[in-house]
Amino acid sequence: MNEWIYSLLFYLIIVFHNLPYGPRRYYFFKIFIIMVMKICNVCNISKPETSFRQYSHAPKYRRNGCNDCRREKDRIRRETEGYNPRVLDKRTKEEKIERLNKWKENNPEKVKSSQKKWREKQNEYSKLWKENNPEKVKENRKKYRTNPKTKLTESVRRRIKKYMLIKNITKRNKTFEIVGCSPDELKNYLEGLFVDVMSWDNYGLYGWHIDHKIPLSSANTEEELLSLCHFTNLQPMWAQDNLKKGKSF
Ligand SMILES: [Zn+2]
Repeated sequence: MNEWIYSLLFYLIIVFHNLPYGPRRYYFFKIFIIMVMKICNVCNISKPETSFRQYSHAPKYRRNGCNDCRREKDRIRRETEGYNPRVLDKRTKEEKIERLNKWKENNPEKVKSSQKKWREKQNEYSKLWKENNPEKVKENRKKYRTNPKTKLTESVRRRIKKYMLIKNITKRNKTFEIVGCSPDELKNYLEGLFVDVMSWDNYGLYGWHIDHKIPLSSANTEEELLSLCHFTNLQPMWAQDNLKKGKSF
């Protein structure tokens, strides 16, 4: 509602409050009610906002179906499915999750569209945040460029994602579940394999790369790809050697 509606409502409340009991007071009350009407999306009848239930987790918002329609729906469900809200409240967390998963399986399109909506919203938020916090963005970029752990994590994540996309596989597991160790352990593991003057300062395009002993491009199935991403298949290698190896394969 607009601001002017609120001011009008406020005015009406004051007038209503000062009116004596009688038809005029009733008339004003009616106008007052009409201003806070809402149309039910089930029966398409406009009703006062108070006949729509508020959400317990977000009292600012109300349901789109009116109380009468909801009661009717509940009655039908009670008779056909044996639905009982009091019993439903006592379900355990696992039962709720199971029910939700079942619903997700039956409604893949709804899940997809809601995920898309969520992602768009998140992107909007992050865009807004970036606009409002340019210095933090800069700081984070610097952190990303200089911290070996984040650099390593991001590069591993990016590579797995890229190959999954090439092989047309959807990424279901977390990156370091696939790799089989934590980022810190991976860092230590690679440090143990350093040769010559390798260090985290010369990690990158012109220094050393993380090489897959058996290249990821040789994988044909999802299982093969996942097993090749394991940290035991990784080793640090000078960029020149790595490029030569890439040509020979
Ligand atoms: Zn209704």
